[in-house]
Amino acid sequence: MERDAPARPVQQHAHNLALVSRLVSAHGPVSRAELAQRSGLTKTTVTQLTRELLDAGLIRELGITRASGPGRPATHLVVNSSGPVGIGVQIEADHVAGCLFDLTGRVRDRALRRGDDLRGDPALATKAVEPVLRRLLAAADARDTVVAGVAVGVPGRVDESGRVRSVELGWTDVELSRLVMRRLEALSGGVIPVTVHNGFRLAALAEHWFGEVGTDERPLMVVSGELTVGVGVVSLGERTSWTTGTAGELGHVRVRRGGDRCVCGARGCLDTVSGPRALLRALGEDTPMASRLSGGDSRMRALARSRDPELVGALRRAARALADTLAGAVAVLGPAAVVLGGHFAPLGSPFARQVAGELTSRCGQAEVSVSASSLEGDAVARAAAATVTRRIVDDPARWMES
Ligand SMILES: [Zn+2]
Repeated sequence: MERDAPARPVQQHAHNLALVSRLVSAHGPVSRAELAQRSGLTKTTVTQLTRELLDAGLIRELGITRASGPGRPATHLVVNSSGPVGIGVQIEADHVAGCLFDLTGRVRDRALRRGDDLRGDPALATKAVEPVLRRLLAAADARDTVVAGVAVGVPGRVDESGRVRSVELGWTDVELSRLVMRRLEALSGGVIPVTVHNGFRLAALAEHWFGEVGTDERPLMVVSGELTVGVGVVSLGERTSWTTGTAGELGHVRVRRGGDRCVCGARGCLDTVSGPRALLRALGEDTPMASRLSGGDSRMRALARSRDPELVGALRRAARALADTLAGAVAVLGPAAVVLGGHFAPLGSPFARQVAGELTSRCGQAEVSVSASSLEGDAVARAAAATVTRRIVDDPARWMES
């Protein structure tokens, strides 16, 4: 909408439709009278707008519900759990995870494809995406619902045209959206929009949307990564907004001169001290390097429980190197909280407390709040799916046009 010009009727209509849709999502079950009261729109307008949302299958009636106050019993409205669905896909170096989300934000199905090593040739990853998509498309079909979109999260940078640069995956300029779209067309026989997102940003949004962190005006900083280390920053100011924030690969910032060789080819990267490959190697040379969903979760928990001085030392070094890398950003951004997700999550509160202590001593300010994430290894896939369904709830007119 042009900021300096009056809204045209079609824009005003789209705006009011979005307003009612978001109110049903936030307050449902809700009556039309209550929607009118909350939105400031007339009852007639609300009746017309809810009719359109009902016809589009985005909301549904719950049937007659007795009003709690005086007046006639009213029909209550909720977001339609049988409406369009979103598919989220998470590509990691050793697996692809996926999930199917309905409009109410409920996970309807999940899928996982493990692979030995999906780094390098992007065809390896897109091949692993296929069975995940096949299963989730079949689940949507069985529910007789429309798939509104597929959103993919990758551990790396994504430019506006969906091209990916990821040190972790060994990709320098991969047109992922086109590759996934091609697989999707072959599977579904139709055209489903595909979007690609920075996975570290999605991990931060996942904490914002599904995590147990408090809300505050200040930004939320989320450290994540299943086989590497990344960071995402989102602002909690606007709860509906999901476009703000920044994210990136942190794992290849150098923390040791010399140091061990990293998967990127350089020496002394953060990943070689605090990354899961380094931490799992501390458990033993022959410990398989696996992300949480591929078996790494229980190994990380074992590491956190261990009293072995060598392992305790490895965790202490990991906490210090992580704090060294984060301190500058923490001092500048002053986040409300730092959440340790990804492979750090199974290390739990003791590790979070270590990182908090190291950060506080480096930043020379008030104590930095650090906590361990409670989300599982497919948090990025969940947030990806939610970007699809939230977009519909936030802007139903655009969905209805298409
Ligand atoms: Zn590196």
